[in-house]
Amino acid sequence: MSVTVRFAPSPTGRIHAGNIRTAMFNFLFARRAGGRLIFRLDDTDQERSTEEFARGIEEDLSWLGVEWAEKVRQSDRFDLYADAVTRLKASGRLYPAYETPEELELKRKRQLARGKPPVYDRAALKLTADDRASLEKEGRKPHWRFLLEQRDVVWDDLVRGRQHVDAASLSDPVLVREDGTYLYTMPSVVDDIDLGITHVIRGEDHVANTAPQIQLFEALAATPPAFGHHNLLVGAEGQALSKRDRTLSIASLREEGIEALAVASYAAVIGTSDPVVPHANLDELVRAFDFAKLSRAPARFDPNELRLLNAKLLHMLPFSAVEKRLRAIGVDGGEDFWEAVRGNLAVLADATLWWSVVTGPLEPVIENRDLCRAAAGLLPAEPWAEATWPAWSSAVKEATGAKGKALFAPLRLALTGREHGPELKHLLPLIGRARAAARLEGKLA
Ligand code: GLU
Repeated sequence: MSVTVRFAPSPTGRIHAGNIRTAMFNFLFARRAGGRLIFRLDDTDQERSTEEFARGIEEDLSWLGVEWAEKVRQSDRFDLYADAVTRLKASGRLYPAYETPEELELKRKRQLARGKPPVYDRAALKLTADDRASLEKEGRKPHWRFLLEQRDVVWDDLVRGRQHVDAASLSDPVLVREDGTYLYTMPSVVDDIDLGITHVIRGEDHVANTAPQIQLFEALAATPPAFGHHNLLVGAEGQALSKRDRTLSIASLREEGIEALAVASYAAVIGTSDPVVPHANLDELVRAFDFAKLSRAPARFDPNELRLLNAKLLHMLPFSAVEKRLRAIGVDGGEDFWEAVRGNLAVLADATLWWSVVTGPLEPVIENRDLCRAAAGLLPAEPWAEATWPAWSSAVKEATGAKGKALFAPLRLALTGREHGPELKHLLPLIGRARAAARLEGKLA
């Protein structure tokens, strides 16, 4: 059976760096296996799900280069869930229960006070038809619980290895609420069956759902897929990430100017044994991907580490990878310009600064008037190339006796208006003779 995985966010918020890891792992795993990724919007909660969030998530994934073979929405698939409910009721695996949240809470408290685990006592199973009728007459509506088989559930987790859960230690999960809406478990399992999902890859926060889900697959006459639960991402202080934290949203990273490939690389390697280094393309990430490299400890999201990775990525990107985007921000320098400045960029937009330094007009900073004047007089005729700077600066050194910082700092300040920047041997030919001469004379150019 060919590998089919899904990334299944609820469109109740934008996705953040943590969700992106789940998306990336599914995408990379599918690519590596030559399989398919399905993008599933878990939007059964129609009050909290919005079209805007759904579009935003889609935009974030596309920006990162995560491609999917098929997109489905749970809100289009209610018939399937209703059919599963009918089948589970018919087989006696779904039973009505009438306790209010307060009554359940009271039961839990009593159990805990007696030192017992707070597992649902299945009192509803003992109700007779008459009991149910009179409860309903009182105006109570049932919620529906899945009757677990009280046995050991075992799976070989792709990340965590062999897992055992004694289902007798679990409460029968509620699958359908009083108002007929579904909790996440049933639509998820029904879809995983219908869509032929072979591997469920998701965060560790879902480990506790797996044993009941495996039983639900079986109760619906399906073979459960393989499961892999990856470590979760926590903030720099170890706190859980929240959809409400804007600073970690993909949209805000994009607005900050972080490259999609930097986010994708970072998401794929933090919390693994691989070093945090930039990858030139997604294919490299696909080749490097292996569940065995995932650590069991939480992965820490450090925005500064991501920024550093972003800079390193920019420093190695070829001109062809950025040409269009440079033009879109008004930077018309060619390959020579890109190669001259890329090593000085934290984000791509910084290229506009160096473009304005090269093209002017720029207010030069004259620190040593005599030296600059002498240097202007020694500028050779064009055409200029990389060798122009060493030859010219040696000539200035010889003529003025200035050397080291006393020579280079005033020249850089006059030519670029700033103390630091790309190597002058690269910048000088781009600035050109006319502008260089004027700037050395202290003129705006
Ligand atoms: N919609 C669920 C979530 O976002 C999907 C969980 C799963 O992958 O099974 O947590």
